Amino acid sequence: MKTALITGITGQDGAYLAKLLLEKGYHVVGLLAHRSTDPFWRLSYLNIHTEIEFNDGDLTDLSSLIRVVKKIKPDEVYNLAAQSFVGASWQQPILTSQVTGMGVLHILEAIRATNPQIKFYQASSSEMFGLVQQSVQSEETPFYPRSPYGVAKLFGHWMTKNYRESYSMFTCSGILFNHESPLRGLEFVTRKVTHAVARIAVGEQKELRLGNIDAKRDWGYAGDYVEAMWLMLQQPNPDDYVIATGRTSTVRDMCQIAFSHVGLNYEDYLVIDPQFYRPAEVDILLGNPDKARKQLKWEAKTSFEELIQLMVEADLKRIREE
Ligand code: NDP
Ligand code: GDP
Repeated sequence: MKTALITGITGQDGAYLAKLLLEKGYHVVGLLAHRSTDPFWRLSYLNIHTEIEFNDGDLTDLSSLIRVVKKIKPDEVYNLAAQSFVGASWQQPILTSQVTGMGVLHILEAIRATNPQIKFYQASSSEMFGLVQQSVQSEETPFYPRSPYGVAKLFGHWMTKNYRESYSMFTCSGILFNHESPLRGLEFVTRKVTHAVARIAVGEQKELRLGNIDAKRDWGYAGDYVEAMWLMLQQPNPDDYVIATGRTSTVRDMCQIAFSHVGLNYEDYLVIDPQFYRPAEVDILLGNPDKARKQLKWEAKTSFEELIQLMVEADLKRIREE
């Protein structure tokens, strides 16, 4: 039986990845940072909370990482922990750099010091492309991050590559474009919209306040994307891969899909609120997943419409059960 250590197991991707690895027969260990008041809500939603071993640790505390890696002797480490919200990274740029950037180096060092044979996955991000240098972004596209989050992720990405080249470690970087689900945090625009649509539909909310609705993203489903993480670590050689759908849509398109799913017109409820504009914006992201398709035999299965509709349905169900 293989053992996998997942940092960020209480987050969206951590929950879906834990479920996938449990289904594949892994012993799944989660690093628990004890940051939120109800850290297990996502794992409970997927009904897997009791099947996971938890160990205390924090990405900013190298000693805790060394202790956990030594104790559980993982075959694979998936580093998903981060301060992951772009908007918050301007309010907390130093914390974001310490967790989302330096944290990657800490876990790489913990692995190198303990057992450099451990396979490593780094959750890199399309936010590294930021002010896009090519209209469609692939593994070859130059980076130009536009937020403290994007800068921190770029540091983690290059460290992951550097440890592969310096120490021949099996380190992979997944450059994942936005991926969403009913387990997405409420601060992200998709879930903010689907949650608001559900509340408006049952009469609990009157309007939805958003910032830049012309921003375009390549949105996929988190449940599809975690499989790509696992596939990267099953290849004969470590590498970096773009994971995306190859289609981009605006925030406005997303609102239209979500509201019309409950028979409403988004224009009757949407209020543009400048407080949600960002100091620097990423106007458009569009990924080219060809390499993942060819080498990993991976492709996104869930369409953008299906994704938004399933998120609205999940929010409606939750609200009705409250
Ligand atoms: P989430 O924000 O849902 O999860 C982040 C996780 O990191 C949580 O479990 C959180 O714990 C944990 N965490 C935060 N700070 C620390 C710390 N100091 N030490 C240990 N754990 C910590 O993110 P997602 O699941 O959406 O994303 C997973 C990863 O993929 C992140 O690194 C994200 O930046 C990256 N990514 C995500 C994309 C997306 O569209 N979802 C796109 C590209 C990359 P707690 O619950 O206590 O807060
Ligand atoms: P990001 O791509 O990781 O920043 O994911 P988000 O879901 O946070 O934001 C996606 C896009 O939606 C960005 O271009 C935001 O500027 C835009 N957006 C517009 N209004 C909002 C809002 O109210 N909240 C968030 N989070 N994003 C918004």
